[in-house]
Amino acid sequence: MSKQDFIILVADSNHPNIEAIKSTLTRHNDIKYKFDIVHTGKDLFEKAEGNKFDLLLLNRSFSDSNGIKILDEISRRKLDVPVIMIVEDGKEELGVKAMDKGAYDYLTEEEIKTVSISRAIRRTIQRKKLEDDIKESIKKLEKLAIRDGLTGLYNHNHFKEILKSEYKKSKRHIQPLSCIMIDLDHFKSVNDTYGHQFGDHVLVYSSEILKKLVRDTDFVARYGGEEFFIVLPNTNLEGSFILAERIRSAFESNIFRKGEISAVVTVSLGISSTLDNNVTGDNDLISNADKALYRAKWRGRNNVCTYEETEFNEAVGIKEEEKKIKDFYVRLESVNENIKETCIESAHNILLEMNSWWDNVKEHSVRVSNYAEKLTRELSLSDDEVNVVKRAALLHDIGLIGINAKILKKKEKLTDIEYNLIKRHANIGVKIIERTKLFHKELPIVLHHHERFDGNGYPHKLKGDNIPYGARIMAIVEAYDVMRTDTLYRKANSSREALAELKECAGKQFDPHMVDVFVKIVNQD
Ligand code: GH3
Ligand code: MG
Ligand code: MG
Repeated sequence: MSKQDFIILVADSNHPNIEAIKSTLTRHNDIKYKFDIVHTGKDLFEKAEGNKFDLLLLNRSFSDSNGIKILDEISRRKLDVPVIMIVEDGKEELGVKAMDKGAYDYLTEEEIKTVSISRAIRRTIQRKKLEDDIKESIKKLEKLAIRDGLTGLYNHNHFKEILKSEYKKSKRHIQPLSCIMIDLDHFKSVNDTYGHQFGDHVLVYSSEILKKLVRDTDFVARYGGEEFFIVLPNTNLEGSFILAERIRSAFESNIFRKGEISAVVTVSLGISSTLDNNVTGDNDLISNADKALYRAKWRGRNNVCTYEETEFNEAVGIKEEEKKIKDFYVRLESVNENIKETCIESAHNILLEMNSWWDNVKEHSVRVSNYAEKLTRELSLSDDEVNVVKRAALLHDIGLIGINAKILKKKEKLTDIEYNLIKRHANIGVKIIERTKLFHKELPIVLHHHERFDGNGYPHKLKGDNIPYGARIMAIVEAYDVMRTDTLYRKANSSREALAELKECAGKQFDPHMVDVFVKIVNQD
């Protein structure tokens, strides 16, 4: 506030007083105050409500009220107005009473004719400024205590408070409460590739995406580094799944941009709900969402998993309505499966029409798919996950269409350049499949089926458990099929030889546990 802006409201019906105040201040003061005058309590409160002045010089009495009553009303209305009370000479006890009621200071009618008034006003201005600064700092501190500094979302501690209170509410009102835990995929490599500043930009913009997609009644928090939590009051599993899928798809189709850099960052999401059968407190919602998220990561990232899906033993005795919804989803899902199968079948037929050599690729893909199904089942994965792996197997080499046929058919050893060209088939495959929007769960498997367990594969040099489980399965069964097949320039290995080679490479090229299971299956057959 500039000095010239400072407005003093004189609430007084006594004209000589007003004149005395003006002339004293003009005589003794270097600050150019502006004056405004009211004669009634009604006018005073109108100006106060409209923030029309900065300091009130209040007389003890005027036409429709008195000074003490006005102070009471100011405090009742919680008005933030500094007041200096003017009292009759010899009536200082009234001034003391006014200060008890919230006035900053008081002056006698004699004092308003002296430099005292100037001192009192200056002290009041200083005190008001100090109080405002303190209030502002408290506000900032309060915000700091509940908000995350980078994204402005609720922080970890406040998220826990919200969850606790929403959990209690949901119990009281017998309403469902759901949570979505979100983790950015491969975020470490975003930082490593583009730098922390770009990483921070991705975090800030991610929080914007989340805020845009939720309802006003939902809460979005930054749970940790690149992890977010959304609390969804009065939302069941189906509702939260729809939102989670919307979020997944929004990230998948978004390009983060800053300066010259642009990148796509996908997310994995885990859902928990008070309707899950093991929930007895708010912390169970966190651990269930975390468990579901872990599984979404393990499936290959860029996908949504509910806690319910992580439970193998289906709850028995579910309510009639819930059963109906479930049945509906199962039937709808089977229509979806048919569409996907038809799409894959048509893709192979078209490719066969375009290239005679595709026959071999197709037969190889079908065999790989059969092996993959057996191994996936033996690893105790769900039917849904088995189907994803089977389909990914049928699609895994589709990118070969983008590689020059001469290189593919070459009998001699490939040059480094040629080998690098062949390696591109994983990325090309993903580009082709992406177009259909049908296979987002299969995409990571197709992309990563040439990663090695020791981190020396391609295209992303992923290592160990960071390789999607389906891609680890694919690596083993594809290698087995290639070894077991005659080619123009090499006879097929026996089953025993092929399995020995897999065992030899376990822990280096392949997931050792999966190799053990696969060897067992083949030996049983
Ligand atoms: P995953 O797909 O398994 O989630 O892999 P990830 O790389 O995302 O997960 P990981 O937990 O290995 O790495 C998380 C990274 O997030 C590591 C850390 O440097 C980064 N990170 C955490 N907080 C911040 C932050 O405030 N700013 C930036 N730029 N990076 C952060
Ligand atoms: Mg992550
Ligand atoms: Mg993380």
